[in-house]
Amino acid sequence: MLKGCAILQKRCKWLLAAAAALVAVLAIVVLCLFQSAKQGVPVLNYHQINDTEKNALTVNTEQFEAQMKYLSENGYTTITPAEMLDAWENGTALPEKPVIITFDDGYLDNYNHAYPVLEKYQLKATIFLISDYVGTYPNYVTWSDVQDMNDSGLIDFESHTLSHEELTKAPSLDEAKHQLAGSKEAIEWNIGDGKPVRFIAYPCGEYDADIEQATKDAGYRAAFTVNYGLAEPSENPFILDRVPIFGSNSHTLLRFKLRLRLAPVLAPLNRLKMDLRDDHPTLASFILVP
Ligand SMILES: [Zn+2]
Repeated sequence: MLKGCAILQKRCKWLLAAAAALVAVLAIVVLCLFQSAKQGVPVLNYHQINDTEKNALTVNTEQFEAQMKYLSENGYTTITPAEMLDAWENGTALPEKPVIITFDDGYLDNYNHAYPVLEKYQLKATIFLISDYVGTYPNYVTWSDVQDMNDSGLIDFESHTLSHEELTKAPSLDEAKHQLAGSKEAIEWNIGDGKPVRFIAYPCGEYDADIEQATKDAGYRAAFTVNYGLAEPSENPFILDRVPIFGSNSHTLLRFKLRLRLAPVLAPLNRLKMDLRDDHPTLASFILVP
């Protein structure tokens, strides 16, 4: 009887120790997430805003407006990549609930559909232009559209290379360098207001150590990927994470809120899913990321 009690007591001690360890681990995880959420900036990554193309890169106009209204009514302050980098480098505070809105590629619907909504809520945004496509293809903005948006003071234009060449797959490093320097020069020359182009979004989010160095050498301050996560001051500024608002055909307000607010939790889950995707597709399919 006494022996039974002693075993029970021992088991209880083990259970208590395991529970305490679990609580400690959870507390550390919550603390890390809180710290990350406090310092990190969500950089929203959009492409097309329209009601006709129902692909994974498109957010329809109504949903986009609901998302912008949400930011506007919930105390978010839109900033530019330069404002974020200035604050990080000078150690100055960012505004309450900072957020960066970005669009890749420079689609015409950014001007026709997104810009009126941004103007309505007075939200700043950054468009990463494929400079050779501007005014060349009908689905892309023209330099006059760019000028108009630039004059509003709300829209900032940065680089997405000359022709959307995936930089790691460029025929040579020299070609990649040409894409980096040429687009910067073309955007600066065409806008002509003296503001330097200092940021880039890598086409398809592709980069490696050589591309990072070439980007730095071309005079950029920072570069954005398409990896899900918050942009954080502790990160290498040439591989900054963003919050993709694409990759799904449903961009409801709920999904938007989850991706925006739970990025510190969902981003590592998403990374795990991506890591498992090739070798263990079934296992990866069980990891649900909104
Ligand atoms: Zn792109």
